[in-house]
Amino acid sequence: MRGVRFGRKALRHENTRVIIIRSPGIRRRLISRFSSAHAPFAVFNRFFLPSRTALRAATFRATTLRATTLRATTLCVVFLAVCLGASTVRAATLRVAPALPSPGDVLTITIYPAPGERVTAASMTAFDTPEVKFYGRRDGSARAFVGLPFDRHGGDFPLQARVQIQRNRNPGGSTIGAANGVAIEEAVTEANADAVVSEQRLSTHVRARERYFPTQRISMNSSTAGTMSKKGALRQEKSRVQSAMKNSYAAPLWNGSWIVPTRGTQSSSYGRKRYVNGKWWGQHNGADVKAPGGASVLAANSGRVVLSQYLPTLRGNCIVVDHGCNVFSIYMHLSKSLVNVGQSVGKGQVIGRVGATGFVTGPHLHWEVRIGWEPVDPNHVVQLGLNF
Ligand SMILES: [Zn+2]
Repeated sequence: MRGVRFGRKALRHENTRVIIIRSPGIRRRLISRFSSAHAPFAVFNRFFLPSRTALRAATFRATTLRATTLRATTLCVVFLAVCLGASTVRAATLRVAPALPSPGDVLTITIYPAPGERVTAASMTAFDTPEVKFYGRRDGSARAFVGLPFDRHGGDFPLQARVQIQRNRNPGGSTIGAANGVAIEEAVTEANADAVVSEQRLSTHVRARERYFPTQRISMNSSTAGTMSKKGALRQEKSRVQSAMKNSYAAPLWNGSWIVPTRGTQSSSYGRKRYVNGKWWGQHNGADVKAPGGASVLAANSGRVVLSQYLPTLRGNCIVVDHGCNVFSIYMHLSKSLVNVGQSVGKGQVIGRVGATGFVTGPHLHWEVRIGWEPVDPNHVVQLGLNF
């Protein structure tokens, strides 16, 4: 019990024992804990007892404060527990970057354990992501990406995580997460069963700024616009894509910066509030690049193909690439897909051709980056990158 000493010798007055605390931190904790009406004793820092008069006054105050009589042994037990807690609880920290994100940004959430410890499980709900997926990093921390939805206003958003922390078997050595990006659940099964495990609740908050998205009014012939009322078909198509995106690879497959997947002019940016023939259609989940039919569509970064399929209602010929750690890119309305499910693709590899299949008014590439199911601004990912 470093920083703590019991004043056994002199400082007794009736049933009151004065405890001498050297550590200001522990003293503050004790005072905040015991200085209420329940306080059976007084706590002093030894350095603040300069004279016998002050000492006598202080002891007297302690006596009058005493509401209940606690035996010294009980007192010691309580005190020991507090001190022990102070010396062994080393809290992990929860951090979010960037400092002031806007809707459509990717939030990087990291849980840093205390030295000699590692994160073996973490659960969190953030914004519209019901279950944030964390991956283990080499240093024992865990990282997740979360999309800040485009329909949020700026403001303060609390974030909370429940984490399981484990003491490293060999302090200083890395016993888990030998490679970057181990799914936290897998890490648990590898963990040393008899190591000390603690659960902690961590919290922080994100301050987001406001972002303006322009409104776009699209006109199309009524038979094409009829797609909007095919609710059942739209739902079915969505669940087909979602099921392909269920099990992202547990390590980053991307490398370096991201590229815009085709050459052309950006015709509609991410987040636009869209009305088709005057009817609300929704915010734009991706970015559109106007390019001639047949133009090459490149993989925005390396990954593996998890969907390559003609989806007639909305997406047309569609490719989904899993980049690992719950990061996906999606390419729609292609005239042709050149890849198959399970295939690894490199950044810049030609994976398809621009087309006008699905719900469109003309040939263009609609592409998205999603974190889980949350669409983020693909151009921000190109500009800022993603660090694991
Ligand atoms: Zn689009």
